[in-house]
Amino acid sequence: MEDKYKALNAKFPGGLAESNWVDTDYPDGNVHWMRFAGAQCPICGHTDWCCVNVTGTKVVCMRKDDGKAPEIGDGGHLYVLKGTKAVDFDSSKVKTTETVPYASDKIRDLLYRMVLVANPLAAHHRTNLKKRGLTDEEINLHRSRGFGSIYDDRNLAKKYGVKPFAPIKLVKGTDGKGKIISQWRKLFAKLNLPDNVWQGVPGFYLKQMRVDKPLALQSGDGKFTIEPGSYDYPMFTANTDGMLIPYYDEENQIVGFQTRVDHRSVYAEITKKPQGANIHVYFDKDTNHYRVVLYDKFNKDGKTLAESDIHGDNPVHINYGINNSQEIVFKPKFGGKYFWVSSSKEYLGASGKTPIQVSYNPKIASLAPHDKALEDYIKQPKAVWLTEGGLKALVATAKLSSCFSEEQLDDYGRDFLAVAGVGSYRKFIPMLEKLNAKRITVAFDMDFIKNDQVADHYRHLINLLHEKGYQIRMALWDPKKAKGIDDALVNGSEIRFKEI
Ligand SMILES: [Zn+2]
Repeated sequence: MEDKYKALNAKFPGGLAESNWVDTDYPDGNVHWMRFAGAQCPICGHTDWCCVNVTGTKVVCMRKDDGKAPEIGDGGHLYVLKGTKAVDFDSSKVKTTETVPYASDKIRDLLYRMVLVANPLAAHHRTNLKKRGLTDEEINLHRSRGFGSIYDDRNLAKKYGVKPFAPIKLVKGTDGKGKIISQWRKLFAKLNLPDNVWQGVPGFYLKQMRVDKPLALQSGDGKFTIEPGSYDYPMFTANTDGMLIPYYDEENQIVGFQTRVDHRSVYAEITKKPQGANIHVYFDKDTNHYRVVLYDKFNKDGKTLAESDIHGDNPVHINYGINNSQEIVFKPKFGGKYFWVSSSKEYLGASGKTPIQVSYNPKIASLAPHDKALEDYIKQPKAVWLTEGGLKALVATAKLSSCFSEEQLDDYGRDFLAVAGVGSYRKFIPMLEKLNAKRITVAFDMDFIKNDQVADHYRHLINLLHEKGYQIRMALWDPKKAKGIDDALVNGSEIRFKEI
């Protein structure tokens, strides 16, 4: 962690990571809130999801609503930490990032289709989608607007047999001098698009590169040299490696991407350790194999106390020392599976607004944006399913026609809307209005009953839908057989409906 956050890390030890939220206390817009990533949220006690400002005086808790704290975007509540001292923070040490206005839906759709050409779906991700229940035909349903795979990490790319898209090529020009060719700019020129068309599309930014001394290279047509100087070129980054999940708007355009990571990150929440000792738990990213290392005055370079594999999120107990008198206890904590594609922290990058997933039935999903038949369909009164998770909605929609009759589908709905997280349930309303929805079938993960915060969000959503006058039904199935509606439909679980 960088030095500028030293005081904040001392106040909230255990791990903080920069979030996408810009801290509006800093007018330059270059300071971001920090997300708990191991460190503990003082409001709910959890070690992820919630955020703290850089001076450690305000927390946005994503879980606890005490009825007084004002609600801010995406379902979080703002708490001012009374009686705690602000930590030092020098905003001048923060690198300025300029973000540009958000690009139009049409431009995002166009650029994201180009991203998919550059980063096509890898074989292991296709296998993964098939395991979830999709057929090849269903995977290819949206044609040029389907899934993709992106790997910035060369080792991972090699492991999965993925050829990463090279944003630049170093070539010998016709004048014999070396040139740096931007592949993106070349593509934009070919399509008669402006050179800066990528600006405002989350994921894209301007990479700046300095060449300090002449760079001698060799290619098929002989030796050449890249002269010293400053170079720049547009880049697309997903920040994390994995599968690209498209989010569609009501016009069948891709308006956002999430990356689904192949392996969730894991870190340890140490709940018990001997005084005066420092414990670090190292995890292998691919296998979740852990190694517990002790650092104290006798073991300055660290001493491995134990290593093994974790089993789910069960706490791990380690005893060591004379008569095993010393005890360490840690709980494995998992990072997220899905991340929004955003370049808000990069030069001329764009922040990702979080769209909702519009997953139409296959007949409508395969229509081109603004097709007459699509426009007519949007206006038709209809029933719509609601759930959480963009990929889940795509899988579930594909399976509806094999589980229900045409008559039932008229009644329950043929299309899904999904928010990326239950906290943003309010985003359903404007889309339901656009789609002229009359009846709603809610299909929440069956484990919501066990989670108070999630249950709260669902209750709020139902109340909101009632207020708006929708006819509401709840889809229910055996939670032992399936967690989400996608699995329930894929494995043919019996779905019951309850009017609410
Ligand atoms: Zn919290």
